[in-house]
Amino acid sequence: MNNEKYKIYLEESEIPTQWYNLRADMKKKPAPMLNPATLKPVTKADLAPVFCDELIEQELDDTTPYFDIPDEVLKFYKMYRPSPLVRAYFLEEALGTPAHIYYKFEGNNTSGSHKLNSAVAQVYYAKKQGLKGVTTETGAGQWGTAVSMAAAFFKLDAKVYMVKCSYEQKPFRREVMRTYGASVTPSPSTETEIGKKILAEHPGTTGSLGCAISEAVEKAVSTPGYRYILGSVLSQVLLHQSIIGLEAKTALDKIGVKPDVIIGCAGGGSNLGGLIAPFMGEKLRGEADYDFVAVEPASCPSLTRGKFAYDFCDTGKICPLQKMYTLSSGFIPSPNHAGGLRYHGMSAILSELYDQGLMRAVSAKQTDVFKAAELFARTEGTLPAPESSHAIKAAIDEALKCKETGEAKNILFGLTGTGYFDMVAYEKFHNGEMTDYIPTDKDLAAAFATLPKVD
Ligand SMILES: *Cc1c(COP(=O)(O)O)cnc(C)c1O
Repeated sequence: MNNEKYKIYLEESEIPTQWYNLRADMKKKPAPMLNPATLKPVTKADLAPVFCDELIEQELDDTTPYFDIPDEVLKFYKMYRPSPLVRAYFLEEALGTPAHIYYKFEGNNTSGSHKLNSAVAQVYYAKKQGLKGVTTETGAGQWGTAVSMAAAFFKLDAKVYMVKCSYEQKPFRREVMRTYGASVTPSPSTETEIGKKILAEHPGTTGSLGCAISEAVEKAVSTPGYRYILGSVLSQVLLHQSIIGLEAKTALDKIGVKPDVIIGCAGGGSNLGGLIAPFMGEKLRGEADYDFVAVEPASCPSLTRGKFAYDFCDTGKICPLQKMYTLSSGFIPSPNHAGGLRYHGMSAILSELYDQGLMRAVSAKQTDVFKAAELFARTEGTLPAPESSHAIKAAIDEALKCKETGEAKNILFGLTGTGYFDMVAYEKFHNGEMTDYIPTDKDLAAAFATLPKVD
């Protein structure tokens, strides 16, 4: 036991060499994706024009427990992994809690988040297939940056559609992507048919992730030698992100610590799905129990207030349908929402686990999230991303509960990234201009009415 350590680093040789596919251990599997035209389960052939072949194999495979990480991807991982597991002694002290708080920090690379773990895998498979390039969307910009870095490394072209309000709020993000050689287009744009249509229907719209996805998919299928890649939601992305949980588990095992509560922020579910993967595997196999907590914004509450139904993954309704917790693809969060995690749906894997009662979900108001972010920055030093700060907020709440009960629980949370490019949001918070818009039941009912009818 070595509980004096602040950082529990692994050796390079301890980086996992396989990703873990959580679906293999699920008795009730996520429902199949449906083809949007026929409403029948998608086939490999349906997906082939959109996604890379090997990624389709991973997406549709719910039985193989482990996938080898290709050597080229492992080499790239070694540039910034293993990522540290940190004991938050200073935060514990500030809270006066008997709980032990650990966080897995994924912001230690230029893209500033965990998204690089999947970007490098997806771009590698595109390269292996002999493609010229990839298209994708980005909201806050972390995924687009991650794709740009991976594309530069593997010498592929990257076309990024960036949600217009982020494009305008975060010009420096855009320049980082261009530094790595990507082209960046604000979405909705006039470059695609779907972009033109959305602009005609909603002039002045600041865009949404669902809309940027539609544009990126259209570009990929209409440009020879290109495929589309997505940074969250898909099961293949959770597979790649399992590296977070596998490393965290190895590090905790080394110091003989078993987490009681495991917390992650949830946008599309990839970091949370990755962090909990090996632990949830143990729970599914009946080997151990953990309390898993998803944290989402109160302004975009897909798990806590959404419906478990088949829905489109994109506004343009060209991607396959997924059965997931969703606010409906027509839902666009209030423009004053600055805390990220704005996607309308949730990973099919996490949705299924949540529906089976194997994990819980809470929501947090953005002003509370930024308060937690500030406390974290001032105690632990790292400037957290607003998305990650949802997990911080929930970890603080758990630690304060322990203070009341006197329990010394081990709390593990995912610190997914840094917040250097989110200073406009922090500025709003500091100026007292940040508000908490929470959609009303009526707002949600209007969005639910647009859900596709599938039986
Ligand atoms: C994208 C992102 C998230 C949310 O995405 P998930 O797929 O839910 O993990 C969380 N934190 C950061 C820093 C991100 O960039």
